[in-house]
Amino acid sequence: MRCSTFLDRYDRLDAGEETGFFLRLHLSNCPDCRRKVAHLEAAVSAWMEADEASPRTREGGEIVDLRIMSAIGLLPRPRKELHARNWAVSGAVFLLSMAFIPFSKDFSFLRQVFGEGYSLPLFLVLGLGLALFGVVFIGTHMEELEPYVKRHLGGEPRT
Ligand SMILES: [Zn+2]
Repeated sequence: MRCSTFLDRYDRLDAGEETGFFLRLHLSNCPDCRRKVAHLEAAVSAWMEADEASPRTREGGEIVDLRIMSAIGLLPRPRKELHARNWAVSGAVFLLSMAFIPFSKDFSFLRQVFGEGYSLPLFLVLGLGLALFGVVFIGTHMEELEPYVKRHLGGEPRT
């Protein structure tokens, strides 16, 4: 057995799984692989010891290490300002495309087919969509919008 084959098969073993006859044979004849396996086992046992010192939780079949989760808590929070700007840009694009609808070919075609009565319901639906967009935007960005509202609308600061 070649060393690469041995290491490949060794890597595929589950933790605590018995090494087969051929793997043991290679291991007993190859000092190079013996050294590598010893390194691997030392690393694994060091990891297991460190792991036992901290509690773990199982989530969705995956073991989530609380150490990682606590490290995530220390990371800077994702900036929401950029997010809010994306929303504002999306809303502006929506509004602009609404404004350009009367100039589109499809619109004039639809107006020919359905008559003038078609444009009012269309703009009512689009306006409703835009209003919904605004409501969702404000609802999801209350914390960020609060200072602006206070500054520009002169609301009393909460105590
Ligand atoms: Zn070997």
